[in-house]
Amino acid sequence: MKSVLLFLAAVCCAATADAGERRIASPDGRLEVVVSDEGGRASYSVTYDGEVFLAPSPLGLKTNVGDFTQALALGEQTVVEAVDETYSLKNIKKSTVHYTANRVRVPFVQDDKTVFDVEFSVGNNDVAFRYNLHRAGEARCCVVESEATGFRMADGTTTFLCPQSGAMGGFARTTPSYETPYTVDDAMGKNGYGEGYSFPCLFRNGDKGWVLVSETGVDSYYCASRLMGEEDGLYTIGFPQQSEFNGNGTAAPGVTLPGRTPWRTVTVGATLAPIMETTVPFDVVERRYEPSKDYSAEYGCGTWSWIIAGDGSMNYDVQRRYIDFCADMGYRTVLVDALWDTQVGYDRVGELAAYAASKGVGLYLWYNSNGYWNDAPQGPRGRMDNIIERRKEMRWMQSIGIKGIKVDFFGSDKQMAMQLYEEILADANDFGLLVIFHGCTLPRGWERMYPNYAASEAVLASENMNFSQGSCDAEAFNACMHPFIRNTVGSMDFGGSTLNRYYNAANRPGGSMRVTSDVFALATAVMFQSPVQHFAMAPNNLHDAPVWAVDFMKRVPTTWDDVKFIDGYPGRYVIMARRHGDTWYVVGVNAQEETLKTEVDLAALGLEGEVAMYEDNDRLEGSVRQAKVGRHGKVTVTIPQNGAVVITNK
Ligand code: CA
Repeated sequence: MKSVLLFLAAVCCAATADAGERRIASPDGRLEVVVSDEGGRASYSVTYDGEVFLAPSPLGLKTNVGDFTQALALGEQTVVEAVDETYSLKNIKKSTVHYTANRVRVPFVQDDKTVFDVEFSVGNNDVAFRYNLHRAGEARCCVVESEATGFRMADGTTTFLCPQSGAMGGFARTTPSYETPYTVDDAMGKNGYGEGYSFPCLFRNGDKGWVLVSETGVDSYYCASRLMGEEDGLYTIGFPQQSEFNGNGTAAPGVTLPGRTPWRTVTVGATLAPIMETTVPFDVVERRYEPSKDYSAEYGCGTWSWIIAGDGSMNYDVQRRYIDFCADMGYRTVLVDALWDTQVGYDRVGELAAYAASKGVGLYLWYNSNGYWNDAPQGPRGRMDNIIERRKEMRWMQSIGIKGIKVDFFGSDKQMAMQLYEEILADANDFGLLVIFHGCTLPRGWERMYPNYAASEAVLASENMNFSQGSCDAEAFNACMHPFIRNTVGSMDFGGSTLNRYYNAANRPGGSMRVTSDVFALATAVMFQSPVQHFAMAPNNLHDAPVWAVDFMKRVPTTWDDVKFIDGYPGRYVIMARRHGDTWYVVGVNAQEETLKTEVDLAALGLEGEVAMYEDNDRLEGSVRQAKVGRHGKVTVTIPQNGAVVITNK
């Protein structure tokens, strides 16, 4: 009997050395990852309920201490660890998250040495994986020259992607800054403008469901990546462009040995609910430092003059008027945007901060990130790019009671840029400052990693509606993308929800005109998630906007306890719900020409009795009425194109 067992063991080992596979299932067993070493190459595939969502997709890395993409064999995997963690995070879509997953490390062997393992964390709708690079020889560091890492979509998959910009393009040579338009339901086999696509990337697997690919846990230990479109449904991890940051810094990241890469994430669902509700960007990362104070006490609403009134509004008098307006709205902060250093001056910004404090209002100050990496001329410049200048500036900000900073114009995903983001965050924490980034990369788990991180732009945000009528005309289309793509993986500083009809201080014809309804502005204040919101509200709205709309904007929360997908399709319409305490906000917007008429099941959210319904008529004139939730817990909503609905039990 013993010899039979020995014989079987020998056969198993031989099979492993030849070609083997490892299977990792989710806690509910519906999601399965299969890892293989067929042909000496590492690969993985993903199925959900037995349907293929990722066909066998490549793994492996090429480094300057070895080519770890070939001649690989599976090693002995670690024991599967059942992850069961509950954590609280007030700055994401859901204040308390219960994360369960099966976690395992699958090693790959080359020349009898384990060169890397792939660590998988497989939740019920999310696969997260990263490489742990081992020390196979004498080297204690390496450069990762490229990754084989890919995502091979099933046949018939269509794409919902925005292209990565070329380097050193756009305004003052500040790209890539994650500000390109989406294409919906497009065919595979393309590569954007030739430089791949920005994360996150959404795919529709025919009528089987949806796949969202992204990455998280990116910090100064690696670069941020993009997704390169290849042949036959394959998309691969691409490193930054060498010409980014005016060619400064390397595109290929350096890693200590042993060391690790960021996590790459694949979220799958039969519906869009797991896509909108995923918390995987936060589930698998860890806090990088302790907060110097309770930043969550400072989350909330604010306003800014630049979006409506432009550069000319950057003067003492207008900023003071916005401080008064902020106090009237019950908001917390005013964002003092670019050019304050020359048009207001450091001394008078101190006076503004003191005046604001006397009214219970705080200030955020805008900064240019550069530096020697682009031509963005707006000041203050040369304050955030150098540790000595930066800490001097932050000490001054702390002395006058500044609440946060907005740092703009980055334009690179290189490891050097990740280091700059991280150092700004770490320094700001020393001086009690919250941080917003603009003209920047996608945040990748930063809400949990950096406790004073507030939000990033990384989207065609409200400024574009000031710049062009085309962006106003596409406002509803874009709003129907973000809850499924950009905003589902991280806080989005959109700076919108204006009640002005026109993007100018007089609110009169001239420049671009908003084509969406006032209820739409209310709905996006809920839809677009960020713990700090500087809305595009203007002082004139106190007398030229409907009272019910202004009242809603005074009360809208910026932190959320729960999120639920109800209905929708990217680029067409979305109906979703967010909960703050025991108040639900059900919001819907419609980008389609035809009016959307549908039933919403409020009982499924536990809502009953009286609710307030904000809705639009067919001329996009909004109103609010009290409505009774019917016996079956359902209400009918009617949403015209560019209109919205908001239902709340408060
Ligand atoms: Ca921007």
